[in-house]
Amino acid sequence: MSNIHSTRDIQNSLLEWFEVNGRHWIPWKLKPDGSIPQSGEIISPYQIWIAEVMLQQTQLKVVIPYWEKWIKFFPTLTYLAEADLEDVLLRWQGLGYYSRANRIHQSSKILIELVGKDKDQDPYSWPKGIDQWMSLPGVGRTTAASIISSAFDFPEPILDGNVKRIYSRLFANKRTSLIDEKKLWEYSFLLISTLSPRDFNQALMDLGTIVCTPKKPSCSLCPLQNYCVAYTKYDPENFPEKRMNPKKPLQEIGIGLVFNKNGELLIDQRPESFSMGGMWEFPGGKKTSDELIEKTIERELKEELGIVVKVGAKLLSFEHAYTHKKLHFTVHICEWMSGEPKPLASQKLLWVSPEKLFDFPFPAANAKIISELHKHLCIGNKKL
Ligand code: SF4
Repeated sequence: MSNIHSTRDIQNSLLEWFEVNGRHWIPWKLKPDGSIPQSGEIISPYQIWIAEVMLQQTQLKVVIPYWEKWIKFFPTLTYLAEADLEDVLLRWQGLGYYSRANRIHQSSKILIELVGKDKDQDPYSWPKGIDQWMSLPGVGRTTAASIISSAFDFPEPILDGNVKRIYSRLFANKRTSLIDEKKLWEYSFLLISTLSPRDFNQALMDLGTIVCTPKKPSCSLCPLQNYCVAYTKYDPENFPEKRMNPKKPLQEIGIGLVFNKNGELLIDQRPESFSMGGMWEFPGGKKTSDELIEKTIERELKEELGIVVKVGAKLLSFEHAYTHKKLHFTVHICEWMSGEPKPLASQKLLWVSPEKLFDFPFPAANAKIISELHKHLCIGNKKL
């Protein structure tokens, strides 16, 4: 921290910039009538909590339409807590990182006990302590602090990716170790405005998105330029130090689209304890190193469903990247030869008409398969 400039100077500069340049239109930061809340005024913790979890790995402009649809479908905590997991996953479909949806559903059941069914629309009944929020599945320190400062205007500091970058540059901290990370939290605690915490935290996020961007920050437009050590002494783009991302391992996956004589397709539901639990997918699995992909599909369907199939034409192949790995999918249409399908590696099986597939929550990779299958089955405008 600079000896010359006080914490208050930094807070004031940032808040004045936010007044003019901030994103004052974010829907969950507004009151029900669309106006901006006054200092200290409480706004819906339910709507903010949903938005903050959606924002954990997804950009604001992607989140907004999903959030709007979500709030229409599950307008209150009670609606959400009483919903089936499958409905929750269906509303999440397309946002990715589906464990967030499972955790929101689990958290809604915990919150309804804390808040009370008849009081879920009274923001004063909602938890206000950081530890209470952090005890919910999928809510870390920054998410909890962001919910509390946004909903209740309490001075809880945050440290998301944008804020880490700003403080790393402001104090020329390379952020290469856990000690550096601790130091950034200390800055965040030191700088949070006690007078306008909601605006201050939002101002940091807006500055990180609009001005102090990862590449080519617009330092000439920055309200913190006079206090910024990286700008004054170094090249801000060198802060924080870039980490080399390890190459993601690639795994080959064979998928079988098995039809019955009624033209229905076999889908299976992932066990709830697995990642993407509760979502539906097409059967298949990992290829071993010396196996042909057709053999993989035959073997996997025998192991996972107890059926014998004849592997037919290839429908498509594509790559899909996850956080730590890449999968290469090869999808074949299969003829069901024998055996009654059993959910040996899943929690449920269903035969579904191809037109109905989009009524089920599928991970993004499977959605590609459905689109291609629909095209394939509609060749020459022939209806399914
Ligand atoms: S002066 Fe530049 S590097 Fe420093 S906080 Fe502002 S935009 Fe970021």
